[in-house]
Amino acid sequence: MLQHDVLIVGSGLAGMRAALEVSEDPSLDVAILSKVHPLRSHSGAAQGGIAASLGNSAEDSWDLHMFDTVKGGDFLVDQNAAELLAREGPENIFELEHMGCAFSRDEQGRVAQRRFGGHTAPRACYAADRTGHAVLTVLFEQLLRRGVKVYSEWYALDLVVRDRVCQGIVAYDILTGQIEAIAAKAVMFGTGGYGRAFRVTTNAFASTGDGVVMAYRSGVPLEDMEFVQFHPTGLQGSGILLSEAARGEGAHIVNSDGYRFMADYAAGRMELAPRDIVARAEQSEIEAGRGVTDLQDSVFMDLRPIGEERIRYALPSVLHLARDFAGIDPLVDPVPIQPTAHYSMGGIPCDINGQVRLKDQDDAPIVGFFAAGEASCVSVHGANRLGTNSLLEAVVFGRRSGRGILDVVKDLEPTSIDEGDMARAIGEVDKHLRADGPEKVGAIRAELRDTMMDKCGVFRTDEQLHEALADVKSYQERYERSSIDDHGQTFNTDLLDAVELGHMLEYAEVIVSGAIARQESRGGHARRDFPERDDDNWFKHTLAYREEDGPRLEYCAVNMEPQHREAFPLQERTY
Ligand SMILES: Cc1cc2nc3c(=O)[nH]c(=O)nc-3n(C[C@H](O)[C@H](O)[C@H](O)COP(=O)(O)OP(=O)(O)OC[C@H]3O[C@@H](n4cnc5c(N)ncnc54)[C@H](O)[C@@H]3O)c2cc1C
Repeated sequence: MLQHDVLIVGSGLAGMRAALEVSEDPSLDVAILSKVHPLRSHSGAAQGGIAASLGNSAEDSWDLHMFDTVKGGDFLVDQNAAELLAREGPENIFELEHMGCAFSRDEQGRVAQRRFGGHTAPRACYAADRTGHAVLTVLFEQLLRRGVKVYSEWYALDLVVRDRVCQGIVAYDILTGQIEAIAAKAVMFGTGGYGRAFRVTTNAFASTGDGVVMAYRSGVPLEDMEFVQFHPTGLQGSGILLSEAARGEGAHIVNSDGYRFMADYAAGRMELAPRDIVARAEQSEIEAGRGVTDLQDSVFMDLRPIGEERIRYALPSVLHLARDFAGIDPLVDPVPIQPTAHYSMGGIPCDINGQVRLKDQDDAPIVGFFAAGEASCVSVHGANRLGTNSLLEAVVFGRRSGRGILDVVKDLEPTSIDEGDMARAIGEVDKHLRADGPEKVGAIRAELRDTMMDKCGVFRTDEQLHEALADVKSYQERYERSSIDDHGQTFNTDLLDAVELGHMLEYAEVIVSGAIARQESRGGHARRDFPERDDDNWFKHTLAYREEDGPRLEYCAVNMEPQHREAFPLQERTY
């Protein structure tokens, strides 16, 4: 059995920032574990920026940032968490800058800031359109400097919890095929999002919701999983992201008539309305027959109004992605785009210090278990996340979780993992290696992704969602009869694909079940049969607890303290 004081699973911005904070105490043995090389974590693909109310380009303040966040999330945001996100934003940016993060500059030499959807001030700090990469690299350098142990290309298979006390994890060394127990007094999951269950997505191959499902299987409920964000500017076909920075810089979105249709949906903000609103507008135009290209499944984004010089300076990745993946030169032609599954608002429920909580009657914690970043649901994004708030969340709440761990870890008992604790993970790997059923993992996964996109996508109805649930159940049965081709020990990605499909089938059921139950439209969850937001019945978070025959749904209140109730009362969300 391997052993550490603190083990961080996931080396995106949330995991790395937490590990860095914990390593402030040199007496603690901290390790970080990731199924991909740390610098290949999805955070590195983030393009557009990281929010903070520095006020460098225009008047701004933390409370304006908080209000935009609460409104952008269609009020399903826990306001204590949103306050911290906004208040602690600037100091986190300065800290990254002091570590050496190369943010783009304005003419006075200050950190440059640009506009993003749903933010009333230019608030996105950026490093051209490679912001995630810039921040991730800097954090990794700091971790190496501190000598933090890194398990690179190790796969966490199971979380071990005994009597509500976290013991550690069971992990698989992808290079050797060995299964190892790693005990730790405190474990933090920064395992990222779950967008890979959708056919069209911006997410990396690794974004398969592993951490979310490991927590769920250990008795932790999942919060607000039905809220999935569809980004309006995915490259047609592949869904590869073209950063919202393009619209921030002044790109237009037009239909087959060349008309900037956002005038009909959010005249006050046009293309810079929040993502859920722009994605729905696009989908409506496409369904009304005003789509572009032969497939009629997309609209155009036109970057030419920005001007060549500025595009080359501020949007080099957008330029290259369109050229390389669609063969279109945005300097010359408009680019076909479509809604693409982008961000997971739901996840593992935790408090503002990253402590995972059961959210049952006494809101018990899982002792020694923490979460941060996209895998968690501290609920700063509510029903819809604003662009650039997620990198900020990963950094702010990664740091807060690190501090949360420092506050308690000295008082926690050493933990242990025995053979019984490892049985589930070993059994699962063995099952896949021995299975000889007729079904193929790749085929089931493709069908699952079609189902989620077509029946649980930008718009949803009761009928489609019930079909989706029946589909998912049938895929779960077929999965039990599936087999893999590679039975080897070294770099068996076939095996890991099978494990990941198991995760996707499990959380897809939770997404669909939550979506069926929620008979209203709010943020990223848009029901054609219930088009209005319904605060009387649905101003509450969904909690899905795992039972033998599927999730059991409960609900809990949204945090709205008296001072917030006064400052940011519930109101209609218009732009
Ligand atoms: C293309 C794209 C562009 C984006 N642009 C922006 C932007 O400009 N601004 C913004 O604010 N947000 C943006 N986002 C969202 C933002 O990047 C993510 O929400 C954020 O980076 C998530 O960070 P994280 O640390 O939570 O997880 P991730 O960066 O996704 O990292 C997850 C980590 O968990 C590890 N992991 C997962 N499962 C396992 C397992 N079973 N075993 C071991 N390790 C595991 C992975 O290896 C990885 O290291 C973008 C997202 C995408 C997809």
